[in-house]
Amino acid sequence: MLPGVRLVVLGKQGAGKGTQCVRLSHHYVVPHVSTGDMLRAAVKSGTALGLKAKEVMDSGELLGDDLVMEMVSDRLSEPDCRVRGFVLDGCPRTVGQAKMLSALLAPVDLDLVVDIEVPTSLVLKRLASRRVCVDCGANYSVSAPPRVNWTCDICGGEVVQREDDTEEAIRRRLELYERQTAPLIGWYSERGLLDPVSGIGSPDAVLRRIIRTIEHRREHPRVPERPDGSGGGK
Ligand code: AMP
Repeated sequence: MLPGVRLVVLGKQGAGKGTQCVRLSHHYVVPHVSTGDMLRAAVKSGTALGLKAKEVMDSGELLGDDLVMEMVSDRLSEPDCRVRGFVLDGCPRTVGQAKMLSALLAPVDLDLVVDIEVPTSLVLKRLASRRVCVDCGANYSVSAPPRVNWTCDICGGEVVQREDDTEEAIRRRLELYERQTAPLIGWYSERGLLDPVSGIGSPDAVLRRIIRTIEHRREHPRVPERPDGSGGGK
C-alpha cells in the first residue's frame, strides 16, 4: 500500500488549495483536515466554538492561535491521522501556529509543506466565481458548477457562494495572508520543509505537479539550514 503523508498545503485563498487537498487526501488515503471546514461545521451545529468563531469568520479575520490549535490537536490525535498522516488545509496560518504544530507533532515532523503559487489577479477572479457545498465543503465555480441545479455532485448538499467570499472580505483575507501567513513560507524554508509548486493550469496538472514534488522530496530529503531545525524563528 502507498505510504501515507504528513502534509501542510499553503497558498493564498483561491489558489486551489481546497481542491488539491481533497485530491491529495484521496491519493494518499489520509484524512483531509481543513480548519475552515471544521469551523464552519461548528458554526452550523451551534457549538460553543462555533458561536465564538462565527463573527470573526464573517469579518474575514483570523481566530486566536490557541483556539484553533486546540481543535487541530484534538483532530490529529485521532487514530486515522496518527496511523496514516493527514493533509492539513488552512492551518497553520501564522508562525505561532506553525510552532505549536511542530511541538504537537514532535518527534516526527511534517513530510513537506507545499506552497501553491498563483498571481493575485488570478486569485481574485477565481474567488469571485467560487461556490461551495454547505455540507461537505466541495468546491465548484460558476464556470464548473455541479451537474444538477446547484446540488453537490458528491453529497447532494446545497452549493452556494460563501458568506465570506464578498469582495470586501476577500481583499481583507488577502491582506491578512500577506501580513500573517506569508512569513510561514520563510519559516518553513529555513527548516528545509517548503517546496513551491505552480498553481497555474488545470486541477489535474497541478495535482500531478504536487505529487511529483512530494515523491521527489521523499527520495531526496532536504537538510535544514540549521542542524537542529530551529532556524532563526523567534
Ligand atoms: P478558510 O476556509 O480556510 O478560508 O477559513 C475560513 C475562515 O476560518 C478564515 O477566514 C478564518 O476566520 C477561520 N480560520 C480557518 N483556519 C484558521 C486558522 N488556522 N487560524 C485562524 N483562523 C482560521
